[in-house]
Order: sequence, then structure tokens, then C-alpha cells
Amino acid sequence: MSVINYAKGIEVKDPYDVIVVGAGSAGSTAAIAAARMGAKTLLIERLPFLGGISTAVLDTFYGYYTPGKQATKIVGGIADDVVKELNVYNACFERPNTFGAGTGITYHPEYLKVVWEALVAKAGCHILLNAWVQDVVKEDGRITGLIVSTKIGQVYYTAKQFIDTTGDADIVYLAGFDYELAGELEPAQTLTTTFKMVNVDAAKRKAVSKEAFHQLMEQAAESGKYDLPRKEGSDHITPVDGMMATIMTRLKSYQVTDGKTINATDPEFLSRAEMKGRLQALEYIRFLKDYVPGYEKAALSTFGIQIGIRETRRVYGEYRLTEEDVLLAKQFDDQIGLCGAPMEDHHDGEDTKWKYLPEGKTVGIPYRTLIPRNTRNILVAGRCFSASHVAHSSVRSMAQCMAMGEAAGVASALCAEKNISPVALDTRLLKQYLLQQGAIIKAP
Ligand SMILES: Cc1cc2nc3c(=O)[nH]c(=O)nc-3n(C[C@H](O)[C@H](O)[C@H](O)COP(=O)(O)OP(=O)(O)OC[C@H]3O[C@@H](n4cnc5c(N)ncnc54)[C@H](O)[C@@H]3O)c2cc1C
Repeated sequence: MSVINYAKGIEVKDPYDVIVVGAGSAGSTAAIAAARMGAKTLLIERLPFLGGISTAVLDTFYGYYTPGKQATKIVGGIADDVVKELNVYNACFERPNTFGAGTGITYHPEYLKVVWEALVAKAGCHILLNAWVQDVVKEDGRITGLIVSTKIGQVYYTAKQFIDTTGDADIVYLAGFDYELAGELEPAQTLTTTFKMVNVDAAKRKAVSKEAFHQLMEQAAESGKYDLPRKEGSDHITPVDGMMATIMTRLKSYQVTDGKTINATDPEFLSRAEMKGRLQALEYIRFLKDYVPGYEKAALSTFGIQIGIRETRRVYGEYRLTEEDVLLAKQFDDQIGLCGAPMEDHHDGEDTKWKYLPEGKTVGIPYRTLIPRNTRNILVAGRCFSASHVAHSSVRSMAQCMAMGEAAGVASALCAEKNISPVALDTRLLKQYLLQQGAIIKAP
């Protein structure tokens, strides 16, 4: 626990009902939900734009639909508003798929930045960008405020309720609550530097099947002239003609030295990974241009703004979702959302391991997985929610992060209004609000 050094003249801001830290898919949605409920809400983000991985790294939402023969829509509410607003700019389209996480919604991430900003601001939430939560102040197990680093120095923000949507569970970590560090108990999912190519002849590329594409990658790697650790990376079309996006590179996400695990929350480790990721991407670009029809005249457009991090810290919550829950498509009384995506483990090897739920089935996401245990006024949402490594590999797609964010936002607003802890909230009331807002919480 920290003590604020008032002697240093730290600026103290007026209190909020709810502060959301981290504006990824989970945090932006949580902020919209809390503000729409009438809570005085602040959204704090360290980057100069909203969206987190959705705008800094990727361009396809998965999880809106179940995979398999028939795609059933299983996420609604604010997630629908996001797609509706993207459509206003003609900035997204569906990519039907029966395999993997199912049908995806590919969007233009620059438009998504504007869409997130518009939805959050319209809901009445105050946005603070380029602001990094650096420490937490606690009293009697309750978080009272956050110390935020800005260009004018440290600023102190207080609230009744907090939502940790930092992806890395930074607030939970800084407050000294319980979490599992990815890589500590089981191997953690790898890191990926995404990149986009322009001037691609998409029609020519389309003529190459997925299997043939992977064979080319294999051949190039076997030639010894290219360093390609992953042999089944993917590329896909985007809303921009001739531009392809990739999820191809693969870097180890943790290391264990003298029994101590470090991962992408370690600044030294992360710095090396960011630089190695870009070099590895250049190898894949060389391969694409040399081997893959359609890429002959292609050029690098952009790297992802930051390396893609799948998992770092996952909290220990009032409930921890397990592999068995997912495989059995378990339903819960307090579920606030659904997930039909398979467990998709991007492990250290050359391929990706997939384990599917029974055809057309979904697992419920319990509200309790958003409540870090032994806490009084904090919820989490998104990729740091309470799940085992394997269960997390299913329930981490952006649509599920949005569903969790919406529930956390509504719950925090209700807790702030009623002056109660998240664990004391009547989940029937929470579910009632979510249903009114178009969320889908009951398995089809
Ligand atoms: C390479 C890769 C490929 C993937 N592919 C897909 C895909 O195709 N489709 C899909 O649906 N899902 C995919 N996923 C999973 C999905 O993208 C993530 O699980 C999801 O985006 C996580 O959202 P989030 O809101 O929990 O976290 P994030 O998007 O990581 O957001 C966290 C936010 O918190 C901010 N933040 C962190 N710490 C602080 C702090 N201390 N102070 C202030 N701000 C802070 C960050 O800047 C960030 O904006 C992929 C993930 C990766 C890494």
C-alpha cells in the first residue's frame, strides 16, 4: 500500500462514482455501460487512443458467433452498437468461417478508434488519454484512489468503485490482491507482432489454399534461408483494397530463471520482445514476397503499434473458470455472457492447439469471475479475468471481453449507487439490466 506524498504537491481530483482503467475492448465497453447507467465515470488509458489490442494490434472481432455448421449470434448489447457505428463508416464486414473461433467481423482499426471515442463520450464518460496508473492507495482493504502519471506530474483520482481492464490486472497487482502470473503454473500463450502489407494482389493470393500456404511456409523454413518459428500463420483481407493483415509471428512470452517467472509485464523482457517481434516480422515479409503468389509487388504498411500480448496476469476471483467448464459448456446462475469459441492455445511449438466445445454449444461466463477475491470495491473484465490458462484461451476473444466489460460497468454503477461491494450485488438485478440493454446471457 502506498502513501501519497502530499508534500510533493500532488494534484487531487474531484471524486468519481466509477473509474475504469484501461480502454481496450473490455474497458471501453465498461466505461460506456457505467456512464449509461448514470454513474459519474472516468476512463483512464495510457495510449493516445481507445481500443487497446482492438485498435493497436488487430482488426477482427471474434466471439460474436458460435463456430461450426451454423453460426449463432451469442453476444449483443454494446458490442452491437460498436458494429452498428462501424457500419456508418462502411468500415467492417463479416468473414464467415466454420473453423477456429468462427465468423469474424473484420474492421478498419482507425475508424474503430473514432467509434470507441464517440460511444464512450456520448455515454457521458470522461476520457483521460496518455495517462498511466502507476500506484494504488488502499484503506482497510478498500481502494480509495489511483496515482496517475501524466506530463504535468502525478495526479490523484478517487472513486467509489474501480474496474481493472488493463489486460495485465495492473490495479489488482498494485493493490496486492491475488493473481496468477502467466507462465508460472502452465506454459503461457506466445506473443505476436502483427503487420500489414499493401499492394497485394488479393485475387491471386486467394487462389492459394490454406494448406498450400502453410506448405510454402514449411518449404521456406526448411530451406534454411528464413527464420520462421511458426509454420501455420495466417493472413486475411481488410476493408482496404490490396491491404492484407497478418497473424504470423510467434515469440516466447515468458522465461523462468532460478525458479522465478518473468513475462511481458517485465519492462526489460517486453522491450526485447517488441524489437525481436519486428525483426521476425521482416523475415515473414521476405517469405511472403519470395514465395506467395499475390505478394510479388507487396510492401510493408505498418507493424502493430505494440506487440500482441495474449496473457500476463489472470486474477484469482470468486470463481475461476476451468477447462472442464468450457468443454462441458457449463451454464451458471450468475452468468453475464456466453462463449462458443474453442480453446485456442498459441503455444511455443510450430502449430496451434484447438479444443472445441460440443457443436453449437456455449459456456456461460459467471459474474464471479470478474470479482477478484478478498476485495471490496473492484471488478475486472477482459483478458485478466479469473480463469485457468486453458479456459482463458477460449474466453478471451474481443466479443467476450465486451460482454464482460458491459457487465462490469453495469455492476460497478449499481454498487456505487447502493454503496455495496460487488460481491454483495444481487445478480438477478444485474442480469435484468443486461437483458434490457440487449445483452445475450442465456444459451441458445
Ligand atoms: C496476437 C493476438 C491475436 C489475437 N487475435 C484475436 C482475434 O483475431 N480476434 C479476437 O476477438 N481476439 C483476438 N485476440 C484476443 C483479444 O484481442 C484480447 O484478448 C482482447 O483484445 C483483450 O482485451 P482487453 O480489453 O482485456 O485488453 P487490452 O485490449 O489489452 O486493453 C488493455 C488496455 O489497458 C491499457 N493499460 C494497461 N495498463 C495500464 C495502466 N497501468 N494505466 C492505464 N492504462 C493501462 C492498455 O494500454 C490497453 O489499452 C488476440 C490476441 C492477440 C495478442
